[in-house]
Amino acid sequence: MPIYEYRCNQCNKEFSELLLNQKESHKVRCRYCQSRDLTKLVSSFSLHQTEGSRLASFDTSKPRGDEYYKDSRNIGLWAKKRMKELGVDLGSKMDEIVEKGRTGKILDEYNK
Ligand SMILES: [Zn+2]
Repeated sequence: MPIYEYRCNQCNKEFSELLLNQKESHKVRCRYCQSRDLTKLVSSFSLHQTEGSRLASFDTSKPRGDEYYKDSRNIGLWAKKRMKELGVDLGSKMDEIVEKGRTGKILDEYNK
């Protein structure tokens, strides 16, 4: 069962949430101040399992709406899967790009 770790952007406290399914992730709030302004931390091994299963069920032929990208874990996933399909392996470079996307840096650049 996946455990996700978050950092609250309001009070900077970190906490873990046990999520029964992916839909639950949209309801996560800071357990200290109830803020929804959270950064998901990349940490435990369960994350890799989750990403693996997400990649496996990911259909790159379908467009993704804004709602989809509000879940920061989905940012970069499309690119990663597409690279795999194309047989391109960027290795750690790709992880770096994906990590930028997840922390919002890619979006910052994109919005300029
Ligand atoms: Zn908080």
